[in-house]
Amino acid sequence: MKTLVWVEHDNNEMKDATLSAVTAASQLGSEVHLLVAGSNCRAVAEQAAKIAGVGKVHLADDAAYEHALAENVAPLIVDQMGHHDAFVAPSTTTGKNVAPRVAALLDVMQISDILSVEGDKTFTRPIYAGNAIATVESSDEKLVVTVRGTAFDKAEAEGGAGTIEEISGAGDAGLSSFVGQEIAEGGERPELTSANVIVSGGRALKDSATFEEYIMPLADKLGAGVGASRAAVDAGYVPNDYQVGQTGKIVAPEVYIAVGISGAIQHLAGMKDSKTIIAINKDEDAPIFQVADIGLVGDLYKILPELTEKL
Ligand code: FAD
Repeated sequence: MKTLVWVEHDNNEMKDATLSAVTAASQLGSEVHLLVAGSNCRAVAEQAAKIAGVGKVHLADDAAYEHALAENVAPLIVDQMGHHDAFVAPSTTTGKNVAPRVAALLDVMQISDILSVEGDKTFTRPIYAGNAIATVESSDEKLVVTVRGTAFDKAEAEGGAGTIEEISGAGDAGLSSFVGQEIAEGGERPELTSANVIVSGGRALKDSATFEEYIMPLADKLGAGVGASRAAVDAGYVPNDYQVGQTGKIVAPEVYIAVGISGAIQHLAGMKDSKTIIAINKDEDAPIFQVADIGLVGDLYKILPELTEKL
C-alpha cells in the first residue's frame, strides 16, 4: 500500500506532528510518500526527506498553498491520490481541516483520530470522549485517516534519504482567501503538543490577571507549556489555542499539572494519557483526583506560590 502523508509546517520548518503520522503510515503501507504543500517551502521538503523510511517527497510550491487553505490543498491531494492508496494526516488543526474535504472529494469515509493500525484497513479510534475505543474497518478503496499524535511514536527525523519531486496543482480554487491570523504570544514556552511538562489552569483562576500571576511563574520555573480548561478559555482568561480536551488539544506530556480544574470527561479526553498527572484542587471529591497520580487538596492561591518558590 502506498501512503501519502501530509507534512505539517509553517513554510520554514516541519512540525513534529508529522513524525507520528509517518509512523502510522509506515504501519499501514510499505511505501511512505510525503506531501509538502506551501509557499517558498523547499527547506521543509529537504527536512522531510531526511525522515527515516520515507520515499518520495512531493513538493507543491505555490502561493495558493501558503496557508494550507483546505479549499486549495484538497484538490491537490486528490490528484495525488490517483497513485496513492491512503492519505494520512496528523490530527492537528490543519490536518482536521483538510482531511474531511479530501474524503468528501474522493467520496470515501474519513477515519478520524486513529490510535492504532490493526490491519490493512482496520484501526482503533476513541469514541465518547475517549471513554471507549472502537475498532473500525473501512470498506473504501482509498483511505483517508487522521492520526492521534500521542498514540504513535515519532519517526526518526534523521537518517532517511527521500527524493524530492516537484508537483503542481490547480492552485487557487477561488473558494476562500486568507485574511489574517492572530498568534498568541507564547514567549519562550514550549508548544503544548510537544511540551514535556504542562501546567494547566481552570475556572478557579478567576481571570486573565490571576492566571498570569499564578500559573505562568510555575510554568516558567518548570520550562513547561501552558494549557487551560475550556471554562478558562471561554471565560477569556487565555486564548483558545491553550485549550486541552476533546475540543482542544490532545496532549500526553511526561508531567501534567492540573490546577483548579475539576476533571470533566471532556478535559480528561485531552490529557489522561499523560505519564504523571498532578492535580491541585480544593475539593477532595473532584473527579480529576480519579486520574491523578499525585493529588494536592487545598487552595491553589496558597499552594502555587509556595510550590513555585520552592522549586
Ligand atoms: P469547573 O468544572 O468549574 O472546575 C473548577 C474547579 O476548580 C473545581 O473542581 C473547584 O473545586 C476548583 N477550585 C475552585 N477554587 C479553587 C481554589 N481556590 N483552589 C483550588 N481549586 C479550586 N472542557 C475542557 O477542558 N476541554 C474541552 O476540550 C472541552 N470540550 C467540551 C466539549 C463539549 C461538547 C462539552 C459539552 C464540554 C466541553 N468541555 C471541555 C467543558 C467541560 O465539560 C467542563 O465544563 C470544563 O472542563 C470545566 O472546566 P474547569 O474544570 O476549569 O471548571
